[in-house]
Amino acid sequence: MWSLEEEREFREGLFRTVLEFANKQDGMVSRQELSEFQFVGEKIRLIDPQGGIWNPSASWTLTDPLRATLSINTTLSGVYDDQEISGGLWRYDYQTGGSEGRNSKLRLAWESQLPVLWLRQQAPSGRYVPYIVFVVDDKPEDSFCLIAPDLSLSITIKNGNEIERRYAERLMKQRLHQPAFRARVLNAYKVRCAVCNLQFGELLEGAHITPDSDDRTSTSINNGISLCKMHHAAYDKAFLGIDADYVVKIRADILEISDGPMLQYGLQQMHERELILPEKRENWPDISRLSHRFFEFREKEIAETETKS
Ligand SMILES: [Zn+2]
Repeated sequence: MWSLEEEREFREGLFRTVLEFANKQDGMVSRQELSEFQFVGEKIRLIDPQGGIWNPSASWTLTDPLRATLSINTTLSGVYDDQEISGGLWRYDYQTGGSEGRNSKLRLAWESQLPVLWLRQQAPSGRYVPYIVFVVDDKPEDSFCLIAPDLSLSITIKNGNEIERRYAERLMKQRLHQPAFRARVLNAYKVRCAVCNLQFGELLEGAHITPDSDDRTSTSINNGISLCKMHHAAYDKAFLGIDADYVVKIRADILEISDGPMLQYGLQQMHERELILPEKRENWPDISRLSHRFFEFREKEIAETETKS
């Protein structure tokens, strides 16, 4: 049997490969891809064929059986009561059978602090967003455990003072929401930058039109735009604005400068381009959110022009 360290290393390597694979597309992986995932020349099943908790058996081709659960999944039509509880921690229910059977290996993930792959199914595609999570608490008497994407933040949430706790909760919520938000937005835009049409998933992000907050609606697709890293940063820093007619504007003072090809082709030539929009109208950026951000862009433009004149 592997040592705890060997198993940890193997799991981390495997899970990182899954996340990289997902990020090359829209941040999601299909059940088919998870059933025959390629890792170091082997095909590995990463998701339970029926249930939520996946403990690969000893007949698994690659190596010895793992001591802890490899993956858990949350489906759209799940019969179990999996839900986010306060503080960015997620409740994951045991399958029937108490703390024995499948659940015992999930408990082992808690005792050994080994990472687990959490697969969250998303509508409407039915594909899964992968997360690397830890079991941070176990409640065998109530048949559930708590999972979180970060060990140290979860310790702060449990033991920190009021200010530390609130800060950790906010970071944890972002860690949970950001990948699913990015996946839904990139999927709606068919994995392309809405400004320049760049189509490399690894270079794309889900930009919020109005900032991420606890407000539930802020995570809906129409508060998002799929942008490459460059245009996301340019949008956030008001180098680039998008008006209520979905037309891209570059700030007036930026149009005046000349320095090199990135500025010329990457920014200045985006001026007056029409935003590339999702196929479904319901996923188009929300006009009132867009207008609000565009007003801030114009204010910044006036301020910058005045400083320079
Ligand atoms: Zn772009």
